[in-house]
Amino acid sequence: MPVLYESRKRILVTGGAGFLGSHLVDRLLDQGHEILCVDNLFTGTKRNIDHLHHHPHFEFMRHDVCFPLYVEVDEIYNLACPASPVHYQRDPVQTTKTSVHGAINMLGLAKRLKCRILQASTSEVYGDPEVHPQPEDYWGRVNPTGLRSCYDEGKRCAETLFFDYRRQHGLTVKVARIFNTYGPRMLPADGRVVSNFIVAALRGEPITIYGDGGQTRSFCYVDDLVDGLMQLMASPADFTGPVNLGNPDEFTIWELADMVNRLTNNQGSARLAPLPPDDPRQRCPDIALARDKLGWQPRTSLKDGLNPTIAYFRELATSPTPA
Ligand code: NAD
Ligand code: UDP
Ligand code: UDP
Repeated sequence: MPVLYESRKRILVTGGAGFLGSHLVDRLLDQGHEILCVDNLFTGTKRNIDHLHHHPHFEFMRHDVCFPLYVEVDEIYNLACPASPVHYQRDPVQTTKTSVHGAINMLGLAKRLKCRILQASTSEVYGDPEVHPQPEDYWGRVNPTGLRSCYDEGKRCAETLFFDYRRQHGLTVKVARIFNTYGPRMLPADGRVVSNFIVAALRGEPITIYGDGGQTRSFCYVDDLVDGLMQLMASPADFTGPVNLGNPDEFTIWELADMVNRLTNNQGSARLAPLPPDDPRQRCPDIALARDKLGWQPRTSLKDGLNPTIAYFRELATSPTPA
């Protein structure tokens, strides 16, 4: 239900032209808020926000969060950062800068404005975990010098900054540790497993499984995740997180491949390729804290979320505008 005029907020969403950010922007606009979407379009695309061009409460600013930003807003969602391993490893120094300098600038902005700020952190802060499922008080097992470190350590440092700005400057901060999330508007070539599998299956090609396919992930549908982010932002000021947001239903990569092949009627089956370095063996969120503090839990099963995602990629493949 849309908010009343008096409770309408100006909300900054960094990374708002990306996969998660653009869905969040849609939902906040639906509630009647004004949105400032800041994105450098590194992995985001104007296609994700094209439908908002004429929306009276939507504004887009092309800007890199590594540089200071002086705007006036009431709330900040900080999502700017490439999220797929292929993208964040393309320019790893820029990935760390985006996480760390980006966090400092957005925290500096929140400090000046005395406004709430939410950080899109990640299950990658747990690295290749020895504890399963992962609760928030597990400190993780992260390689500080590997190919994934630019992202993992960048996000860990951003979390540190969020908690130090809270301790040192009294900011109201919220930290969400997001587990693998999928849905419409993922980029077809961004290298993440759900998009890779669907794109291959729709072409009738074999799905490529890295390693033996026995590694696990837990896949959350985007609408559920956006609910969680908004509920976290609205939670009492003393609830900072970090809080896991993800779907605790765990699948092996083989199981995901089978499901995608079945739902797309792909006869292409699957082939094996080498496992990338530091690929976590298993990942599954413990969401007891989110259930308890936010009353949140995902509602969409993997099958129910894959169907609209497949429909999106099918439409994209036949669309005249290049992806
Ligand atoms: P995405 O790549 O689709 O979106 C990231 C957006 O940030 C893009 O629009 C990109 O152009 C923008 N961006 C990157 N660097 C920037 C910079 N320096 N300045 C301004 N904009 C910049 O990825 P996503 O899946 O939507 O992820 C959004 C956030 O959620 C990221 O912070 C990511 O780390 C986090 N996250 C996502 C997942 C997931 O499974 N999707 C899991 C864990 C965490
Ligand atoms: N900053 C910004 N917008 C603002 C306020 C600050 O981008 O409205 C950036 C600025 O680059 C600053 C950083 O945030 O360096 C950290 O701000 P803070 O006030 O914490 O520290 P300082 O200004 O002392 O560096
Ligand atoms: N993966 C795969 N085939 C692909 C892409 C990924 O088997 O085409 C595997 C990958 O090795 C990992 C899992 O799927 O074990 C999830 O990969 P993704 O890049 O989506 O996310 P992350 O590893 O960051 O969780």
